[in-house]
Amino acid sequence: MRAITVSPGVANSARLDDVGEPSASDGAVLVRTLALGVCATDREILAGAYGSAPPGDKRLVLGHESLGVVEAAPESSGLAPGDLVVGIVRRPDPVPCIACAAGEWDMCRNGRYTERGIKERHGYGAERFRLEPEFTVKIDRDLGILGVLLEPASILAKAWDHTERIGHRARVSEPRRLLVTGAGPIGLLAALMGVQRGLDVHVLDHNKGGPKPAIVQDLGATYHSDGGRLMDLAPDILMECTGVPAVIRDCLAATAPAGIVCLTGVTELGKVLDLDVGRLNRTMVLDNDVVFGTVNANRRHYEMAAEALAGADRSWLERLITRRLPLERWCEALEHRKGDIKVIIDFAQ
Ligand code: BGC
Repeated sequence: MRAITVSPGVANSARLDDVGEPSASDGAVLVRTLALGVCATDREILAGAYGSAPPGDKRLVLGHESLGVVEAAPESSGLAPGDLVVGIVRRPDPVPCIACAAGEWDMCRNGRYTERGIKERHGYGAERFRLEPEFTVKIDRDLGILGVLLEPASILAKAWDHTERIGHRARVSEPRRLLVTGAGPIGLLAALMGVQRGLDVHVLDHNKGGPKPAIVQDLGATYHSDGGRLMDLAPDILMECTGVPAVIRDCLAATAPAGIVCLTGVTELGKVLDLDVGRLNRTMVLDNDVVFGTVNANRRHYEMAAEALAGADRSWLERLITRRLPLERWCEALEHRKGDIKVIIDFAQ
């Protein structure tokens, strides 16, 4: 079968390979791939800056944003041929740490977790893959191809889950305004979930043109392309979804008092910026502010994400997928182009 593989640590080493059928040790559920989403993590792996192959292998099958159809599954799994499914990305560490032991592998404490298509486990960028039933999420058939948005949506479901838990540290926590920085897929899904919570949602992005302003407005949110306004908005919650160091610096302590800044972007190393730590600390202490980082998602978050996608307007979600290419054109799909929001590889085309 065909699979997109890379040599982790080696830039531009991706190729469409002929590989063996998925290993039975990956799980009892056999899935035929329908679509694969591409994200910044994949491009980092392609640049040789992130990722690792399974022990003993030189190459890694890329891809962690999956959508497929079950071809075979044990009866006890509750899954049947024809079901639409998405694979969970992370697997608990083998120790396991207290978080992984409790099914919260997204909070792994010793860093020995593995991730499909990213860290020491082959991914979903192949014509077929296998999953353990407990790492398989069945989705509503009505969602169709949009099911490929479940994995990125799970990241925001977790971000919201933790933001709300932090918000409950005080008796009165009634957030009204959300600011999202970055109108990529992560930022737009953060904004969607903010609107679903009835918040006054603002999205800041450097693009003045292209599809993003209308996508944000049609969600019922306000689009800003002028970064200078960031400080005036004083949101109760700020979700940073650009991963751009200068934007992150401006977000710190930019909330209303008792605000929460949630960092979701994985940044490049080595960007040194001026920062008035005294002012930052003073503001955070006097205002009871919180800044926290979040990564990955556990099964509960995939389920919350499935609900959020089911409750969203389908035609709005469709606008997030700006390019859809067949497997033969995988190379183009992996390139980042101006105007891209979510690019997917359509394995069924
Ligand atoms: C994935 C996460 C993963 C993270 C770090 C992200 O792109 O969506 O599931 O944990 O990369 O490897």
